[in-house]
Amino acid sequence: MRLHCAVACILLAAAGAARAQEQDFSKVEVKIAPIAEHLYLLQGAGGNITASVGADGVLLVDDEYAALADKIRMALKSVGAPDRPVRFVIGTHYHYDHTGGNLPFAQAGAVLIAPEEQRARLVIGGTIGNNASIAKEMKALEPAALPVITFDHELTVHLNGEDIRAVHYPHAHTAGDAIVYFPGAKTVAMGDIFVRYGFPFIDLHGGGSVQGMIEACAAVLKQVPADAHIIPGHGEPAGVADLRTYVKMLQDTSAAVAQALKAGNTLSQMKQQHLLGAWSAQYSPPQAFVDTDAFTDTLYNSLSAHAARHGRPGR
Ligand SMILES: [Zn+2]
Repeated sequence: MRLHCAVACILLAAAGAARAQEQDFSKVEVKIAPIAEHLYLLQGAGGNITASVGADGVLLVDDEYAALADKIRMALKSVGAPDRPVRFVIGTHYHYDHTGGNLPFAQAGAVLIAPEEQRARLVIGGTIGNNASIAKEMKALEPAALPVITFDHELTVHLNGEDIRAVHYPHAHTAGDAIVYFPGAKTVAMGDIFVRYGFPFIDLHGGGSVQGMIEACAAVLKQVPADAHIIPGHGEPAGVADLRTYVKMLQDTSAAVAQALKAGNTLSQMKQQHLLGAWSAQYSPPQAFVDTDAFTDTLYNSLSAHAARHGRPGR
């Protein structure tokens, strides 16, 4: 049975559930599908992997889990990747379902690249959570699994005829997110800033914020052509219209919570009033990783923190 991302996500969320490290990866299949020339999507048990494959070698965006490294290599080989180790891995964010393969790929010679803030978090590990209903501990990575090249704003890798641009968007899904643009292939790999499993998880404890998520999505929409391929952190490839719908949901749900906050409503009142009920059917499927209450917690905490940091007019 293919382990769906939602299952991995539930593992991440549920207190006392089997640790991700103890997941059985033996039956996981790593699928590979073309997105554009020289560009592929790999899907196994963790976050999506986008791969540039060509005569210059292979660059990965994210690397899932260590236990899947050989299956990832076999999938790359099946589409004609050169018989050489992966050369570069760009990390979209520190979460273990996206960076778990760092160690085996680095040990085989890959150069790991990430925003400086992402590396800083990988060094210490810590709680992944929304400061309420979702919390999961992540171990610090060992030195050999850490990025060796870091950047503050952006960095370009010139490979396989493409200018692969990694851009740091601060305080979005985490503090150290990178979105990776493949302009020649009209493709953008967004990591977990854009997901398709329902309401998104925002790692507030790891420096994320809903405002940063919205800003990052808006920046992508400004830059990509109308027929761009939008690769989410989890789920199937999407188009510009899907990303627009998702951003509108983030904006509208945030506005609803912000308004309720301004009116002096408490978090439990917002839940009792089903403040986000209009979005539940579409974004909170049964056994959702982030259900409507968890997303209300997330927005409440994110927007309260924002108000505390920036002050309020008249105060
Ligand atoms: Zn994540």
